[in-house]
Amino acid sequence: MPQRPTLYMVSLGCPKNRVDSEIMLGAANRAGYELVGDPARARVIVVNTCGFIESAKRESIDAIFEMAAHKQEGACERLVVTGCLAQRHHAELAAEIPEIDHLLGSGDLMRLQEVLAGKAARDLVGSAAGYLVRATDRRVISTGQASAYVKIAEGCDRRCSFCVIPDLRGKHRSRPVADIVREVEQLAAQGVFEVNLVSQDTIAYGHDLGARKASLAELVEKVANVSGIRWVRLLYLYPDELDDRLLELLAGHESVLPYIDMPMQHASDSVLKRMRRGHSKARLRKTIERLRKRVPDLTLRTAFIVGFPGETESDFAELIDFVQWARFDRLGVFRFSDEDTAPSYGLEDKVPARESYNRWRRLMAAQRPIAKAANHALVGRDVQVLVEGASEEHELVMVGRHAGQAPDIDGQVWFTNSEVSAGELWKATVVRATDYDLVVETVGKALHKPARGKARRGLPVIGSRV
Ligand code: SF4
Repeated sequence: MPQRPTLYMVSLGCPKNRVDSEIMLGAANRAGYELVGDPARARVIVVNTCGFIESAKRESIDAIFEMAAHKQEGACERLVVTGCLAQRHHAELAAEIPEIDHLLGSGDLMRLQEVLAGKAARDLVGSAAGYLVRATDRRVISTGQASAYVKIAEGCDRRCSFCVIPDLRGKHRSRPVADIVREVEQLAAQGVFEVNLVSQDTIAYGHDLGARKASLAELVEKVANVSGIRWVRLLYLYPDELDDRLLELLAGHESVLPYIDMPMQHASDSVLKRMRRGHSKARLRKTIERLRKRVPDLTLRTAFIVGFPGETESDFAELIDFVQWARFDRLGVFRFSDEDTAPSYGLEDKVPARESYNRWRRLMAAQRPIAKAANHALVGRDVQVLVEGASEEHELVMVGRHAGQAPDIDGQVWFTNSEVSAGELWKATVVRATDYDLVVETVGKALHKPARGKARRGLPVIGSRV
């Protein structure tokens, strides 16, 4: 029996890029490739890059060089670079890294088949708007037994001045509701019960579907009603008006998690204006007050950028005050990255790197006691916990996430007993809390156990970082 050719995937960047990696793994699988966890054994290595800010670009280039070494030392015959860095800088990558055999952009995922069939040119980078996920492009889920990201749309029509994503991913285009529901049904049949709905601009979902126009609320309700789905989570919502139906679902549908990820980026009106965010601090306050009033037990996550050109000490002080008023449950802080293709590149009054770093440190420090208090408030309460598997620290210590923790970004839950297994869902009592993690004791029997023979662990996709 001839040996199957082997493929290894490095997946960098955000969950949306992770979905693209999984789609390419599905294509490789259908082309007869064996997916391996060791790059030294792979005949084809794919590096699915991120390219939206400087640090992500550096990480991608380091990964490309690291994998290129396997062309000398390992079994690698072809190195394929895909994703946002390829979309943005394919000409430079082709010129400066001869080890790269093929380049595919963020819209060329399915052309991996041509590469694997050995019939492809070196640079295949086309339009960023060249592809939109379909349920028929069966993917290989890499996120464990019970959880999956579902991309509901691609691209973005907004023009925040610091952001290059619209250039890398094209105009906003939503998937039809029926196609997403079909994919979620396929995932539920594989044992998935948590779906994390992602896109660049989740709140804009459905506006562009013409005659099949739909609202995010309609989609969420249909996804949440798929048999077997227990957790539906919404990520990447622009702080626009949330419709009443969506708030009702967040507050009352048993399978829609009271969890919102809504990057706000800043809270000073003058900075928001230069960021071209299209709204003011007053609007952000109103949105938070409405969410908290309508959705009990809401877990609210956001993200801010510090060091944006022209950000003064008083702008920053306003941001700190806002964070102390809003008391977000989860908060990500990024330092401004001066991207040469973004409109913000031309702005004056750049904030020195040291000052930007200090503001990053001070905002994280201001948030820490707030996150700690939110976590400690759960001690003594019962939560639902998805078991992810053995901890990195010790194989006998099992870890997971409770409903208020999104994958990869929100801390984790430690089990006091090891009689739980990956892919299970348990009710558990919180017995201890740290700043970001919880320790729990299970209560009663498992709420959900993967169907026998459906046990599967996430593929060893290396390097995925949010
Ligand atoms: S909404 Fe998000 S993806 Fe779109 S331009 Fe703004 S920051 Fe970029």
